Amino acid sequence: MSPASPDYGMPLSYRHRRHLLRLLLTVTALFGLVFVIVNLGAGRYGLMTVDLAITVLAVALLPVVRTTQRLRRWCLCYLVSIYAATLYALALPTTSVTVFSWVMVMPLTAHLLLGRRMGGLSSALYLAIAAGLFFWRFGLDSVVEAPGATANIAGVTVWTYLFSYFYEASRESAERQLSQQALTDSLTGLPNRAQLEQSFRRLANADGHPISVLMLDLDHFKAINDDYGHATGDAVLREVGQALSAHTRAQDLACRLGGEEFCVLLPHTDNRAARHLAERLREAIEALHCRHNDSVLSLTASIGVASSTDRAEQLEPLLHIADEKLYEAKFSGRNRVVG
Ligand code: GH3
Ligand code: MG
Ligand code: MG
Repeated sequence: MSPASPDYGMPLSYRHRRHLLRLLLTVTALFGLVFVIVNLGAGRYGLMTVDLAITVLAVALLPVVRTTQRLRRWCLCYLVSIYAATLYALALPTTSVTVFSWVMVMPLTAHLLLGRRMGGLSSALYLAIAAGLFFWRFGLDSVVEAPGATANIAGVTVWTYLFSYFYEASRESAERQLSQQALTDSLTGLPNRAQLEQSFRRLANADGHPISVLMLDLDHFKAINDDYGHATGDAVLREVGQALSAHTRAQDLACRLGGEEFCVLLPHTDNRAARHLAERLREAIEALHCRHNDSVLSLTASIGVASSTDRAEQLEPLLHIADEKLYEAKFSGRNRVVG
């Protein structure tokens, strides 16, 4: 997805909900127009006005929904309007009992547009009002006279509600797992570069406090693979990952960028404090004593530090500076911090 897309950086469901809302608005505009004509012919002017309002709203929302960043708000606006229009139609003594068929599709529509919690809550409230209107219009006698018909309507409605709720619950859980995987490095379990970018975007826009990044590269790591094998190299990377997590603060984000390169994002940290923390990490890695059979591997890391207080700072230039400092650290003998 390109950064120009309105769904960039949003949960996966955003794009689908945008498509779905646009489809629903188009269908609503077309059906709304048909109902305007039908109700005009039948002399139901109140209902015709409501249908006309819904049609105009659907047409007006179509271009807004294409680009809005506040998709959830417009989904809610659309649903509340549709809830209100169908409840009004239900309450009218002149409408056919088949109007109730709209009630049955509302839980599905609400869950797809608003998710499990808001979709579930809003459609439960809607169904309760619709049930109240049903008894108000037809009375308890209708239930006694045609228990099968009432059971059919109630059964299908409850079925649709439960199906929508559990479908949305499992979809949300699958989405959570997927995005977790997409943001995690599978070898070390650390956040990956995508999560680093996401966290930086959130932090950089939040305030003008200093922010620092550490670029950390293990020294002569190729020799560890060559001398002890790739599996040992992997185990070392995992241990380094654990050490970085253990020696950073709760607000810091230690990530694996790839290979034997790591990055630590330090919010609210100036260059002096960042260099101090980098030194602690360097010492922690030096003290790791990773083992291969009976041998203890010696492991060191070089670290480059870059800091900024600029609100408009981007991650890329900051990483570039940290990378240059890292190169300096390598060039001047490795196992050191340059910042
Ligand atoms: P320098 O001190 O200059 O950084 O030397 P280096 O040997 O660490 O750097 P170099 O770039 O020459 O080698 C990096 C090595 O990291 C080469 C590659 O095999 C190894 N490597 C990259 N990714 C992985 C991985 O996922 N697992 C293992 N075991 N090794 C990896
Ligand atoms: Mg490297
Ligand atoms: Mg290296």
